[in-house]
Amino acid sequence: MRNFLSKKARNITPYVAGEQPRGRDIIKLNTNESPYPPSPRVYDAIKSELGSELRKYPDPCGGEFRMQAAEYVGLKEENIFCGNGSDEVLGFAFQAFFDEDRRIKVPDISYSFYPVWSQLFDIQTEIMPVNENFEIDVEDYYNSQGGVVIANPNAPTGIALKIEKIEKVVKNNLNCVVIIDEAYVEFGGDSAVPLVRMYDNLLVIRTLSKSQSLAGIRAGFAVGHPKLIDGLFRIKDSFNSYPVNSLTSAAAAAALKDKEYYNGVSKKVIETREWTAMELEKLGYEVLPSKTNFIFAKPKVKNAKEVFDALKENDIIVRWFDKDRIRDYLRITIGTDDDMKTLVECLTEINDSK
Ligand SMILES: *Cc1c(COP(=O)(O)O)cnc(C)c1O
Repeated sequence: MRNFLSKKARNITPYVAGEQPRGRDIIKLNTNESPYPPSPRVYDAIKSELGSELRKYPDPCGGEFRMQAAEYVGLKEENIFCGNGSDEVLGFAFQAFFDEDRRIKVPDISYSFYPVWSQLFDIQTEIMPVNENFEIDVEDYYNSQGGVVIANPNAPTGIALKIEKIEKVVKNNLNCVVIIDEAYVEFGGDSAVPLVRMYDNLLVIRTLSKSQSLAGIRAGFAVGHPKLIDGLFRIKDSFNSYPVNSLTSAAAAAALKDKEYYNGVSKKVIETREWTAMELEKLGYEVLPSKTNFIFAKPKVKNAKEVFDALKENDIIVRWFDKDRIRDYLRITIGTDDDMKTLVECLTEINDSK
């Protein structure tokens, strides 16, 4: 059979997302979704948006979503770029700020989409190993040729860097763009957003998928100096002028307005996380310190793949990465208290089984 694929399509190794099984009674702890519903105001906002004119294109800049995102982070609309999930915003950022002939630095253990974009856009990438405690040593990122991408808190480790450390990375890379991906920052991390006023080379990326319980709506945004935001617009307007649909814009704006509701949700997730970490430690697991809505843990009695398979048989899905350095670990999303009790019971049985 003839192969019609371009060289690019043939050679790329695509990102593999966690599975999304439908219609079964499973406990799904594999893609860091929220176990709690979005604010009721989100549904109201979508309903009223349905009454508007869907025959028209949406605002090309994100409309109400952009306004509320600016308000949410305490900056101006000129500091905000909205997209169809933060994955898209990150993809635009790679194209807007990185070049083929200037190497960027990313950690070896981090969001595995970064190297995929590097490959897709032909950006040379220097992979910096995290240390033996899975921490990012910030000095490794100083004076990058082409740019830096760091998730803070990091995934899948859950470990967070203090803002002073992030500032050092930004300060020591004034000639290129430093992207800080804050997908999980609302679960106890320090945000770099206050640094945006001081550094024009810092771009902070946020998503509503995790802490706003809106993975299905696809909403993410970037925060940065207006010059960087203009760069993102140049790429957007060369690819898809309307990445944020009007229902998403209404939903995202409503969610960002309801801080009180989401503070409660995040607080609850953090409490459940701390309980789960303690229980796993009692079962002999080594648990990395998490500031996210998941924990990264190494089983002792059985190996990680065995535990992963045994959990699956019991309709509990977690994430296991068949990748150097982290093959012995499981990434477990924080669910409801009931989910986590069932998980701990199941892990106890797995420990005790022959
Ligand atoms: C989940 C996640 C994203 C993607 O979020 P979307 O907004 O749903 O595209 C980006 N970065 C990291 C580190 C994530 O874990």
